Amino acid sequence: MFPTATLVNYLHLCHRKLWLHANHIRMEHTSEAVAEGKQLHEHAYPQRTERYREITLDGSVIDFYDPYNKVVHEMKKSDKMEHSHIAQVQFYLYLLQKNGVEGATGLIEYPKLRQTQQVSLTEEDVPMVEGWIRVIEQLVDSEKCPGRIAKSKCRSCSYFDFCYVEELPE
Ligand code: SF4
Repeated sequence: MFPTATLVNYLHLCHRKLWLHANHIRMEHTSEAVAEGKQLHEHAYPQRTERYREITLDGSVIDFYDPYNKVVHEMKKSDKMEHSHIAQVQFYLYLLQKNGVEGATGLIEYPKLRQTQQVSLTEEDVPMVEGWIRVIEQLVDSEKCPGRIAKSKCRSCSYFDFCYVEELPE
């Protein structure tokens, strides 16, 4: 299985989350944060969708790609800029390059922060992305679910109840 952008994102957040998602244990449908993110995607771009295309490359979906300017647009509802967001967009740029589109760039928009983040994929970044792919393949192939990360980083995770079920009040 070739990794998806979601797995690349999760690689940079939590290996346990990556493993659970890859093994079809999905909790995203129960998450308010995920629902909020979807709403943001649906409502934030309505007038601009004509310019953008949704494209699928090697199993990953890029929701908003501007083919004229070769720009991947990604919107995050987060109130924090995260390395995992940049990694996800760099993976999209890698997929575009792998499929013959040279020189594409990315733009992450943070409406809550009123900030944007430019993303590029340099020649030196390519081996790094290929390294992520290898680590993801190893994690997915592993029979053992990785352990939990520090609880302080888990608060907004859709797997929180799943991971901390023994601590929930009866
Ligand atoms: S709750 Fe924490 S340990 Fe569990 S999957 Fe989410 S981030 Fe990882």
